[in-house]
Amino acid sequence: MSDGAKHSLLSPSSSNRWIACPPSARLTENYQDASSSYAAEGTQAHSVAELKLRHKLGQASVPPSCDNIEMAEYTDDYVAFVTEQMEGLTNPKLFVEQKVDCSRWVPECKGTCDALIVSEGVLQIIDLKTGRGVKIDAEGNGQLRIYALGALELFGFLYPINKVRMSIFQPRLSNCSTWEMSREDIEKWAVEALKPAAELAWYGNGNYKAGEHCRFCRAKAKCRERAKANMALAAYDFTDPALLENDEIATILGKIDGLVSWASDVKDFALLEALKGVRFAGWKLIKGRSNRKYTDETAVAEAVKCLGLDPYEHKVLGVTAMASLLGKKRFEETIGALIEKPQGKPALVPATDKRQEIYITTAADDFADPIEN
Ligand code: SF4
Repeated sequence: MSDGAKHSLLSPSSSNRWIACPPSARLTENYQDASSSYAAEGTQAHSVAELKLRHKLGQASVPPSCDNIEMAEYTDDYVAFVTEQMEGLTNPKLFVEQKVDCSRWVPECKGTCDALIVSEGVLQIIDLKTGRGVKIDAEGNGQLRIYALGALELFGFLYPINKVRMSIFQPRLSNCSTWEMSREDIEKWAVEALKPAAELAWYGNGNYKAGEHCRFCRAKAKCRERAKANMALAAYDFTDPALLENDEIATILGKIDGLVSWASDVKDFALLEALKGVRFAGWKLIKGRSNRKYTDETAVAEAVKCLGLDPYEHKVLGVTAMASLLGKKRFEETIGALIEKPQGKPALVPATDKRQEIYITTAADDFADPIEN
């Protein structure tokens, strides 16, 4: 799924941020986006996925070739997922890379849906995400909602649509998330939440609000509001008694991830600025520690071989690299039985996390009287 203009001010992909913090849009409009090799890989995967779907629809005579085994497989999985979604729908029609115009709700907002299924009663948009970073949830996803609204503009009067389904297909994290809303609810959200936030954001109005969304903001290191929100922990009332109570530790735990991520954003930013010649009072740039390294690996290997010794270490590839080498099917058939997934290290996460809780029995539980008096 791609946003219409490359640097559109109110892009659907950043909507969760500018809906929560409208003035962030104008604040960051002149910041440069960093391009990455991951983005190039994502573009390639989307082209392969598009051509596969078009081939399936009879719009392309030959299927696309793809040398990357992993990409070839996960784009096949995507095509299978899109096809499955059409089952059980009445007169479904699939549109691939469908352009939508969302400017009724968000100024100058256009985009392209990876896959859009329109049927009698149901409209579904499917977004292929090829990243390995974080799992993206379809629930509460502003980007999917905005594209769905654009799709309703296009097809809403042609088909009697009353349900909107929005799916994220993220094969490299085995994540497939679908969220459904009634057409009435999504249009209500557009009127009550989206349009007012878009107007504030467009004119640079509204209040700054720090939160989870800050990590995708280009001003995240320099933003005063984010700094204020994080520094508020320093104002915590650490008075008596000398040791913190468990309730206080629980409060601090809830703030630590945000604090750590803000602190590292500020440090990274300051280092980059210092490397450009900016000076921060009381700080200086130094050379970090470094390890020795070879200037020419081939020459080193040859020299060691001349001594009759083996200069190489031989190691079996890691599981992810091996899966890429063999492809999912061959990986399962050949070495699937030799793979185990050890228990993960225990971690303390917020109670709202969806993973299953580990219950630890304490000594107090052992002595608890099972009979209630
Ligand atoms: S860092 Fe957070 S609070 Fe600051 S402008 Fe960006 S989104 Fe808003």
